[in-house]
This record gives sequence, C-alpha cells and structure tokens, in this order.
Amino acid sequence: MTHDHHHNRPQADPAPRNITIDRPNQLLIIEWEDGAYCEYPLPGIRYICPCAECRGGHEHMGKPIPPEDIFKTPPPGVSTELVDVKLVGNYGIQFFWADGHNAGLYTWKILRPLCPRMRR
Ligand SMILES: [Zn+2]
Repeated sequence: MTHDHHHNRPQADPAPRNITIDRPNQLLIIEWEDGAYCEYPLPGIRYICPCAECRGGHEHMGKPIPPEDIFKTPPPGVSTELVDVKLVGNYGIQFFWADGHNAGLYTWKILRPLCPRMRR
C-alpha cells in the first residue's frame, strides 16, 4: 500500500501499460501502469460483459461486478472465443466474440478491480 501525497490531484484510474491476448491459454493479460500484472480468463471476461443485454437491463448497469464472477463461465451457446479487440478512447476496451457479440465496453474502471491475481 503506497501513500498518495498528491491530495489535490483527482485520483485517476490506472490504465494498462500492455495488453496481450493469450489464445492458447484463453487469457487476457494486462500489465497496469500501477505495476499490477493480471491474467483474466477469457470465459470470465465474456461472463462479466458489461453491456445492458448481458447485465439484464439498463437498470443493472453501473453496478459493481462481484470479483468472483471473473472465474465463471457463460452458458452454452455464448462464445468465449475472441475474434478481435479494440481500444475505446483511452478508457476502455471492446471485445469481438465469435458469436458476433461486441456490445460490452470494458472500462479500466471495471477491469482493474477484477484482477484475478497480482504479481509484484
Ligand atoms: Zn454483452
């Protein structure tokens, strides 16, 4: 735990320094600028899709995602095969799944707290 001496500066969300898709191991690997090294299982990434449809309606959007959800697997018929990824501005990432779904905008704010484990 480091102490933040810049009390007057608004706390910015950490951004990724490096993003890697490890297809053989079904992992999204993010190295964050705060030093965290996070390996997110792709099925879990699909499971937590933050779009309105996957969250069960707009009224559920913006609610925190339980950290254990990153280890869950979506139901059959929901693809966990990644076709493409695209950065969205400087605040998030969009995933294109093999079943055509791409509605989820995964912000750094959503992904950072879901880090399954940390090294360093
Ligand atoms: Zn979705």
